[in-house]
Amino acid sequence: MRVLIAGAGPAGSTAAWHLASRGAEVTVLEKTRFPREKVCGDGLTPRAVREMQLLGLPHGPEQGYRRTKGLKLIAAGRELELPWSSPDFPDYGLVRTRLGFDEQLAEHARAAGARILEGHSVSELLRDASGRVTGLAASVLDESGRRTGETREFEADVVLAADGNSTRTALAAGLEKRDDRPLGVAYRAYYTSPRTDDEWMEGWLELPDRQGNPLPGYGWIFGVGDGTVNVGLGILNSSRQFGKLDYRQVLREWTEAMPAEWTLDEEHRVGPVRGAALPMGFNRTPHVSPGLMLLGDAGGMVSPFNGEGISYAMESARYAADFVLRASEAAAGKTGHAALEAADAQLGQYAEYLRWQWGSHFTLGSVFAQLIGSPRVMRAALATGMPVPQLMRFVVRLMANLTTKDATGLEDRAIRLIERFTPRASTM
Ligand SMILES: Cc1cc2nc3c(=O)[nH]c(=O)nc-3n(C[C@H](O)[C@H](O)[C@H](O)COP(=O)(O)OP(=O)(O)OC[C@H]3O[C@@H](n4cnc5c(N)ncnc54)[C@H](O)[C@@H]3O)c2cc1C
Repeated sequence: MRVLIAGAGPAGSTAAWHLASRGAEVTVLEKTRFPREKVCGDGLTPRAVREMQLLGLPHGPEQGYRRTKGLKLIAAGRELELPWSSPDFPDYGLVRTRLGFDEQLAEHARAAGARILEGHSVSELLRDASGRVTGLAASVLDESGRRTGETREFEADVVLAADGNSTRTALAAGLEKRDDRPLGVAYRAYYTSPRTDDEWMEGWLELPDRQGNPLPGYGWIFGVGDGTVNVGLGILNSSRQFGKLDYRQVLREWTEAMPAEWTLDEEHRVGPVRGAALPMGFNRTPHVSPGLMLLGDAGGMVSPFNGEGISYAMESARYAADFVLRASEAAAGKTGHAALEAADAQLGQYAEYLRWQWGSHFTLGSVFAQLIGSPRVMRAALATGMPVPQLMRFVVRLMANLTTKDATGLEDRAIRLIERFTPRASTM
């Protein structure tokens, strides 16, 4: 089966690796050239580390990774250290800039046999008479990202849209984002700081607005280990001020209130403050249409609970690769309509599988996003939770989705019970 992937971020490169290493013919079209920046907090939770382990991706200090022990939460005048401790996931997280992470992932996929074409910006879908997606057209860009005027066409049996939140591919298929799902916005900047070697991923749960009310979101400080820290904030669209806030200013005012010795100030800022949208809770569906599958941010797979999107992008890529390989097997030996029908029956299951995996979690996350849009609820939740570490530990496991469907611990069973009674967000 010939597979074409739009985008070589975590979703695209992970799918490319899983497919190429199992013998599929894979081409990835990536508009930028590596190494390139991607606006991100650079935080990899144990869920993301598990995906990296499945890829066999080296992730020691020599590759530029910094290990984290867990989360440090700061709110209501308290600090709580919650180590990563879920039996079904690695007991560490990581921090690495996306500049290096995305390039390493792409090289890893290349080494497995995937063809990755940089400087190829997807512009259009190719379709057959029935409307089925049969490939992509891409503008070829020069070294500085300008169009050369050349357009190339690529044909495939299936196209995976892994081109992030702006997903040209899904938009060309008419798949607009859904307004009934939450959306976030996040901004971040790097600062040289003595906190660069921090071992905890630090989350500040009280980001005040101008009136001193907590905004629905949080701020983070992640030590990168290279002399800098990644500092940023993510805010949900459930607040009344969403869209009207000057996020750079909220970031500046929040960091100005930090101890001076952390040097989170303009003088120590490295590079610009940059931000982007967080597409959450399956905000673009259906995840499968004839010849096309959506992965990661292109399918709105950021968690409304914590803004985490890398692990979901990588995991959706692994699932998509599995269904593509099953489709290839199902179609083997058949021709024409029969082959397509057999393949589609397998590909179609990807959407249902995602819904089964994360549908309840994302519905709960959407309710959570709505609730904390009220400063009163946000304040009450922090005042109740922060003094009770056991409660916060449970809440963090629930929010970070650090449990599996077969785990047997008490907390796991409680989380599963909550999710069982929660309707699953649709992926169709
Ligand atoms: C400020 C901020 C902080 C964040 N912090 C974290 C965090 O700490 N941890 C976490 O887990 N998540 C975080 N996220 C979310 C995370 O960045 C995304 O969920 C994740 O990058 C999604 O991966 P992806 O592969 O789906 O898409 P992307 O990473 O966006 O990759 C898409 C790829 O497609 C390419 N592309 C785009 N358009 C085209 C085109 N037309 N043709 C060809 N190629 C194209 C892009 O260049 C890119 O390489 C953060 C997001 C923001 C904005």
